[in-house]
Amino acid sequence: MIRKKKAFAIKVVKFGGSSLADARQVRKVFEIVRADPERRIVVVSAPGKRSPEDMKVTDLLIALAEAQLAGAPTAAALDRVVERYREIQRALELPVAVTSDVENDLRRRLAGDTTHRGRFFDNLKAAGEDNCARVVAAVFNKLGLPSHYVDPREAGLLLSDDFGNATVLPESFDRLKLLRDTPDVAIFPGFFGYTVKGEVATFPRGGSDITGSILAAAVKADLYENFTDVDSVYAVDPRIVPDARAISVITYQEMRELAYAGFGVFHDEAILPAVQAKIPICIKNTNHPEAPGTRIVPERPYASGVVVGIVGAEGFCTLYVSKYLMNREIGFGRRLLQIVEDEGLSYEHAPSGIDNTSVILREQDVTPEIEARLCERVRDELGANDVGFEHGLALLMIVGEGMRYTVGLSAKACTALAAAGVNIDMINQGSSEISVMFGIKATDRKRAIKALYNAFFP
Ligand code: ASP
Repeated sequence: MIRKKKAFAIKVVKFGGSSLADARQVRKVFEIVRADPERRIVVVSAPGKRSPEDMKVTDLLIALAEAQLAGAPTAAALDRVVERYREIQRALELPVAVTSDVENDLRRRLAGDTTHRGRFFDNLKAAGEDNCARVVAAVFNKLGLPSHYVDPREAGLLLSDDFGNATVLPESFDRLKLLRDTPDVAIFPGFFGYTVKGEVATFPRGGSDITGSILAAAVKADLYENFTDVDSVYAVDPRIVPDARAISVITYQEMRELAYAGFGVFHDEAILPAVQAKIPICIKNTNHPEAPGTRIVPERPYASGVVVGIVGAEGFCTLYVSKYLMNREIGFGRRLLQIVEDEGLSYEHAPSGIDNTSVILREQDVTPEIEARLCERVRDELGANDVGFEHGLALLMIVGEGMRYTVGLSAKACTALAAAGVNIDMINQGSSEISVMFGIKATDRKRAIKALYNAFFP
């Protein structure tokens, strides 16, 4: 009988900046990786803040690049970066050459071509992760865990040439899947890759999550573990409700809805490659690795809770438009949204009535000039009777895929908001029923979130 060889399990593990902020944290990272032989691909961020007042290495590198472009002295800024790696090198008794390699690398990048600002900046920004990966590989080897640094160029991580905002090119996945056969622990720097021309390009800030997600998808990982500095994702912002309940399992879609309205744990775009490849994700805490964390999965049993979380974000405004007999006018909505599009704006929602409609936009995108132009064009070109803007809107969301099978949810939410004295400006429920959204005054946001949380998580 021929036995089919069972493929071994492999986990891609990503560590954020706070997990690599100093030698103490790097040691924790080592212990975590050593504890599980399936953790074979490790993605690292650049060292982050050691205290709230500290600066991330990436921000130090940006300051260094700015100094160079301005023709200002760079020695002090350069040394601040080198010092972060020196602390790790000394505390973990690595050879001095580890630090001098970092310094030489930075000098080389600083001396690079400055004619294209974006390219110059990306080359410097990438130094944070690139050197961190080299240092972490040296630490692991020194402490007895065979590891090697992976050069993203050699591994084939190809990105578009949108410097500072690059996206992965599809051909990368086929190349990166070879990492699955890594003989030891592969340490991969997050945040950057190479363009087809061989130039360094970075993802948007926080982009090491994207790297981790891409690698997890490419090697078809059994799990993508994302280590950060929180025990789990919570059902509500713990700054608003201190004893917030931890979420143990959540679906990709639920996570996306929570991230939309302000859950900061994950950049929702970052997990896209892992989501498309249906790789389960687990968020865990480097400082408390025994905590189970939060698993993000394609599907979950709804018996474990219909509603998973309550969120509320400020920073929205409403363009409201009313016109008598609007409902009979073919193309009104399209023309209204065209005017919005002409201003280069993406709209968030468009709840409507019979003779009125509103378009919800992000406050930060709407300058006073844009606001005036939008009102004028809607009035003139669409013949609206009334047009205006309302500012200071917050959007509250109750999220949970099981809601579509549950009766009375909106009633419960409205009752809770009424009891808390919160006036509802708008209610919106998408056809998927994964979330119910309420528009309220931003000044009521915290009170409303507490009221909803107490109603759904008694
Ligand atoms: N170091 C980069 C940043 O600070 C990327 C990351 O940490 O994910 O944005």
